[in-house]
Amino acid sequence: MSRSNWPTESRHKRGYGAEWDKVRKLVLERDERLCQCRHCKAEGRTTIATEVDHIVSRATARSLGWSKTRTEHPNNLQAINTHCHARKTQEEQAKTVKPKRHIGLDGFPIAEGGGE
Ligand SMILES: [Zn+2]
Repeated sequence: MSRSNWPTESRHKRGYGAEWDKVRKLVLERDERLCQCRHCKAEGRTTIATEVDHIVSRATARSLGWSKTRTEHPNNLQAINTHCHARKTQEEQAKTVKPKRHIGLDGFPIAEGGGE
């Protein structure tokens, strides 16, 4: 086995490679593998966390103009339980849904307060 034959390129191609693995471990250990989501914190629950979550989600970070370094920094990551993670994702998606506009029969949106 020769070390020089190790593929060095493929590691860079994958976004979630060894680097993410390292950060994930670091965050889980920092948070003592306990869920840091606001629900668990508010209720003082100790829920085992196995996943790592972006506190400011990637989508939000992108819209804020955050760099990848800032988005993927441990400061923006927290240990989270699988179920809590699913719930948080759901909450985030619900939040980003644009307020419903009333569409008139002619297919055009009705202006707020201008109908009557
Ligand atoms: Zn939680």
